[in-house]
Amino acid sequence: MAVPVLHTLASDVTRRAHRVAGGILTIDLGAVAANYRLLRERAAPAMCAAVVKADAYGLGAAHVAPTLYGAGCRLFFVAQLEEGVSLRRHLPPDATIAVLNGNLPGTEPDFAEHHLVPVLNSMEQVAAWLRFCGQGGRPYPAMLQVDTGMARFGLSDFEAEGLARDADARGRLDLRAVISHLACADEPENTANAKQLSAFRRVRELFPDVPASLAASSGIFLGPGYHFDIVRPGAALYGVAPQNGAANPLRPVVRLQGCVVQVREVPAGTAVGYGHSAVTAHPSRLATIAVGYADGLLRSASNRAAAWHGDKRLPLVGRVSMDSVVVDISALPEGAVSGGSLLDLIGPSQDIDATAQLAGTIGYEMLTGLGARFQRIYVSA
Ligand SMILES: *Cc1c(COP(=O)(O)O)cnc(C)c1O
Repeated sequence: MAVPVLHTLASDVTRRAHRVAGGILTIDLGAVAANYRLLRERAAPAMCAAVVKADAYGLGAAHVAPTLYGAGCRLFFVAQLEEGVSLRRHLPPDATIAVLNGNLPGTEPDFAEHHLVPVLNSMEQVAAWLRFCGQGGRPYPAMLQVDTGMARFGLSDFEAEGLARDADARGRLDLRAVISHLACADEPENTANAKQLSAFRRVRELFPDVPASLAASSGIFLGPGYHFDIVRPGAALYGVAPQNGAANPLRPVVRLQGCVVQVREVPAGTAVGYGHSAVTAHPSRLATIAVGYADGLLRSASNRAAAWHGDKRLPLVGRVSMDSVVVDISALPEGAVSGGSLLDLIGPSQDIDATAQLAGTIGYEMLTGLGARFQRIYVSA
């Protein structure tokens, strides 16, 4: 019996979205590649690496990393060993994958087996790596991190000096980069930047034959003095603004559309949502969207952020629930929105940074918090 074709491809996509999810997350890989090229041009002649930790900031490293490789990137950073092991399967052998957390005790053989490069952050990690290289009879590649003023990862300047003077240890380490990380790079006026820069220049003098890397996304925009040999952007690749208050030169990468479940008309004085935190001032038309804090729409965005229908702002009303949120659609003509309609939660009128700011946080947290329940669509515009 012939099976009738009931749906076009487009309606299949939305039907699936209605089944599995409260919305559609569209990830523009073309924009990721364009952002990579822009950052590389800004940083030239420095080499441009890419940070794809936390599953490429929640966007899917299996899709994002090969896109970046296609744009010319050959050096990738992840945070955890396991992220590196899984990323290795998605990249050709000439891509270097460095693991920022370094070699936790006993993991050294995994780095060799999967061709991963640890970032050595402490003398403990350096010593364990030297022992491992000694057993293997050869120096496996590694990077070294030195703390220049963040008290998070890396050798102290004192330890770095000791290591640099230890000719025996130096001879047994195959260092591919010496790195440090800026604490306040998104604030160009912050005097901590210049302090970290001069501390890093001293570190570089200790390891003059090793490529040096200081700048992540925001650091690239502090100027050429911060670029050294390698830059390591993450967030900017994904469209997050690199500098507070300045125009964002990067292309937006994500669009989040929430699916309307139902629409209702309510009189003035109607209390909405948990805790009745909002009460309608006028007769209103409300739409319930199937996206909540379990999907990364932060509860702190309650009564602050908005959904959008084109350029029409539709304020969130009441608290964000786990799986839903209510928006006021009174600004739209009757019938413009009904069950199954899609409204933008992150999109052209309210980008990732604006949405995050309304929720009292930063684009990074919003991006990495976007949930697993969305229908994810990858496009290469
Ligand atoms: C996360 C991270 C980066 C990338 O930072 P962005 O601000 O996302 O560009 C670079 N280097 C290190 C050490 C990091 O932890």
